[in-house]
Amino acid sequence: MPSTLIAGIGSLVTNDPAQGTGPLGLLTDAAVVVDGGTIAWVGPAAEAPAADERFDAAGRTLLPGFVDSHAHLVFAGDRTAEFNARMSGQSYTAGGIRTTVAATRAASDAELDANLARFVREALRQGTTSIECKSGYGLTVPDEARALRIASSYTPETTYLGAHVVAPEYAQDPAGYVDLVTGEMLDACAPYARWVDVFCEDGAFDGDQARAILTAGVERGLTPRVHANQLSYGPGVQLAVELGAASADHCTHLTDEDVAALAGSATVATLLPGAEFSTRAAYPDARRLLDAGAVVALSTDCNPGSSFTSSMAFCIAVAVREMGMTPDEAVWAATAGGAHALRRTDVGTVAVGARADLQLLEAPSHVHLAYRPGVPLTAAVWRAGVREV
Ligand SMILES: [Zn+2]
Repeated sequence: MPSTLIAGIGSLVTNDPAQGTGPLGLLTDAAVVVDGGTIAWVGPAAEAPAADERFDAAGRTLLPGFVDSHAHLVFAGDRTAEFNARMSGQSYTAGGIRTTVAATRAASDAELDANLARFVREALRQGTTSIECKSGYGLTVPDEARALRIASSYTPETTYLGAHVVAPEYAQDPAGYVDLVTGEMLDACAPYARWVDVFCEDGAFDGDQARAILTAGVERGLTPRVHANQLSYGPGVQLAVELGAASADHCTHLTDEDVAALAGSATVATLLPGAEFSTRAAYPDARRLLDAGAVVALSTDCNPGSSFTSSMAFCIAVAVREMGMTPDEAVWAATAGGAHALRRTDVGTVAVGARADLQLLEAPSHVHLAYRPGVPLTAAVWRAGVREV
């Protein structure tokens, strides 16, 4: 693969304070050399070394590709009618996930694969170069295993979420379903998964069940992440911190103790504003978490029921407008924050040796991601050094 000099970068977000100004490590009039899928050089344009090929950024903004650390993309069907009803004033009724479970079980492997490929491509066109993908719409041993098998051919960040909701067949026997999730289903899924997740919430899994599920996953070599404190206060965040989870996701209803626990831990608080947007719910308070010292990530939660967006730029704009984040904090959270939530050091940064996952914005500053909401600013995307968009 020939090396490429990306020249004429008006504003470069490196997320490396050693390389530039502020937490974003901003450089102006910069250049980057990409070689063999990684970043070989970063610095002032005037000092850039030669490369085989040259790309002129023409004064625009270059930043790391987005790292979307929370998505549910292996499914079939959609829930347009449910969203339409909710936005038309009808009350939300549970059971929506089951609609998607039925459609997903009925779909062929090829359909699920094609759907996932389309969503990964859709995200890539919007600057997302790393994406996590959960199971959770199969809820049987073979359906969960195939979801993860399909996902694992698109991303290394695969998450076993057999504990999304109790499978309909076990509605009268939730303990039996937890036994399945921690036993035979885990055995079938673990070979295709890096992470184990649980929806810890009233109506899904309580703290004791969540602990059993996450602990079983850890014993099989998976690392925990938790759907925590989305709809109500609960034990999810504390459990995530106690078990050393990489991330506690949603964090919408937090006590002072929850905030302190996150701030004193390596567990990232991953905020998913698409979910509150799409369900007309109150947003999480990012400012409170940041002021306490917690590490915050932003992610789409892309799923057909409660957040059908793959746009990290949209999440940035909402986080700035509604959640008390500065544009710099939101851009960091959508790139480096996501990398922290996935415990990755090779993405979410523009530094020598990092993977060459880059996006060029049709804008003079990263601030435009919040300043120009809804505008498709992504002008070019490189993934592992390969120009994809
Ligand atoms: Zn989710």
